[in-house]
Amino acid sequence: MKMEGCRFMSLDIDTKCLHIESEEGYGEHYGSITYPIYQTATYAHPEVGQSTGFDYSRLQNPTRQQLEKMVAALENGTDALAFSSGMAAITALMEIFKPGDHLITDADLYGGSIRLFDNINLKNGIEFTRINCSKEDVEGYIKENTRAIYVETPTNPMMRVIDIERVAAIAKKHDLLLIVDNTFLSPYFQNPLNLGADVVIHSGTKYLGGHNDTIAGFVVANRDDILEKLRFIIKTVGSGLAPFDSWLILRGIKTLGIRMERAQKNAFEIVKYLQSEPMVKNIYYPGIEGTESYEISKKQARGFGAMLTFEVESAALTKHILKYTKLIPFAESLGGVETLLTYPYTQTHADVPEEERIANGITDCVLRMSVGIESAKDLIADLKYAIDSYDGYKAQYI
Ligand SMILES: *Cc1c(COP(=O)(O)O)cnc(C)c1O
Repeated sequence: MKMEGCRFMSLDIDTKCLHIESEEGYGEHYGSITYPIYQTATYAHPEVGQSTGFDYSRLQNPTRQQLEKMVAALENGTDALAFSSGMAAITALMEIFKPGDHLITDADLYGGSIRLFDNINLKNGIEFTRINCSKEDVEGYIKENTRAIYVETPTNPMMRVIDIERVAAIAKKHDLLLIVDNTFLSPYFQNPLNLGADVVIHSGTKYLGGHNDTIAGFVVANRDDILEKLRFIIKTVGSGLAPFDSWLILRGIKTLGIRMERAQKNAFEIVKYLQSEPMVKNIYYPGIEGTESYEISKKQARGFGAMLTFEVESAALTKHILKYTKLIPFAESLGGVETLLTYPYTQTHADVPEEERIANGITDCVLRMSVGIESAKDLIADLKYAIDSYDGYKAQYI
């Protein structure tokens, strides 16, 4: 869509998901409403010293570039880079640090990120301290070699909400980068760069793609020095997103707003049901009033999202629920149109040391639910059937 830059910036996010600024307008691609898939590895040069702006698709591809502009626009960053997975994005980002650098991270992170830090980055000389950034004194952990603070909020899977502005102020004071993995709320509900973060990470596999059908990842920033380093890394290591997958994520983003709203509405309904279940001991969802997470969310986000975690009375009941929900699959991942149940204890957080997992509250009685866009009535009936049938089956587990 051809628009003046300043007018474009004032568009609501629902509109931005469909129309991003372009000098070309629709004319350039035969009027195609959908951005084309440039399924090409390489590009012809008119003559020595001239290029169309594209040389080789490991470096850049027009479809990937269109997606990067889109994600940058949604997060209010100056630019974004699209990677072959969320983990590829975080791996590339970690390359901006040097041996001897130290990072403070929240303790409740995606298990794959902890696996990367502990098994690859640590080996390359980068040190980590994992703390509870919502409770502990973050400043007290800063050392001479500390370079960054890395958090997810809401945290994964315990749904603690971290005050981004508070942590950003500490980062600024000590000249550290604040990196926020914004996967759980998506840019639809939260924009960490506007709250003082320097870098935003996304697993595009989740809400941005939204259909449980594509793996992708993003780094978004508004600092040219960081973006330049990342362009060098993506070109050198070759972890950029493929053209077809870029197109799938662009297609997913078109419905980001309505998916997020619907999934959040369902999440509220499911929380209400779980609150009425005596066998459910704890529910972790930032939309529950009267909690600190609720108050911080109200301040920094436009919604509470559709991720929720709950603890039931026994490990046997978690296993029973995972076996007897028929509509809701027991599967890793989140953020798609289909509701999924995850068992962090053996799935996403299996590689987190046992002691740390328990300290964070990830017991064998905890289930994480990514609420999708089905009918809330059907989702609740499925859960209720699984929970209600437990008594009758109890004997087989004991
Ligand atoms: C899934 C996920 C990742 C990793 O992304 P992939 O696309 O699976 O590589 C990182 N952070 C969070 C919060 C995630 O949920």
